[in-house]
Amino acid sequence: MEKFNIAIDGPAGAGKSTIARLVAGALGFVYVDTGAMYRAVTWKVQHEGLQPEQENEVAAMANRMQIELIPREEGQQVIVDGVDVTKAIRTTAITDYVSLIASYGAVRQLLVTLQKQMAISKGVVMDGRDIGTHVMPDAEIKVFLTASVEERAERRFKEMQNSGIGSMTLSELEQDIARRDQLDQDREISPLRRAHDAVLMDSTSMTIEEVVDEILGLCKDKVGGGK
Ligand code: C5P
Repeated sequence: MEKFNIAIDGPAGAGKSTIARLVAGALGFVYVDTGAMYRAVTWKVQHEGLQPEQENEVAAMANRMQIELIPREEGQQVIVDGVDVTKAIRTTAITDYVSLIASYGAVRQLLVTLQKQMAISKGVVMDGRDIGTHVMPDAEIKVFLTASVEERAERRFKEMQNSGIGSMTLSELEQDIARRDQLDQDREISPLRRAHDAVLMDSTSMTIEEVVDEILGLCKDKVGGGK
């Protein structure tokens, strides 16, 4: 099949990662979870004992570190300077600070450059907050995936229970999601926005399969089937 790029943006907990991974699997494309890259920088900040508020030090450290994303069937493996941090980046200690780290211009510039490089040869499904607006403004398919805060918190809660990682209550999760939405929407550089040409999908009452099928349908219409 002809290769093209798919950008999936939206707020925390909308199901972007699961859906992007399944769409990539169905098309034989590479899945890139850009949130994991911001989480990896946050992990390194904590590992090095830096204060997350020290923007200049954080930016200098980010420039020195190496992030590797390795596609695996069960998801994307994340390696920072040779250390497998795939699980460690999902803890609440990281989630609490990731949006602050992601608001730093120098950190974004560095990661966006890496993300653009990954998209050059096409065949990429990338999920994040600014993919359709900044990282891949020319992506052939753009989706803005959302769901109600209550539904997103519920999904994260179930995910946590199944994975055994994290120990937040449902109402703590709701508060955390609303807080991150706010930070991501209000930041100065590349805030969370729906690209003007992105298809809006509200997954509140849709199953994962329904969302995946709808995106695969868009791909057919736009890149082949509609001809
Ligand atoms: O997708 P995930 O929830 O793991 O992302 C963690 C955080 O990284 C988000 O809350 C957001 O602050 C930041 N992020 C971003 N731009 C992206 C991806 C994630 O600012 N493209």
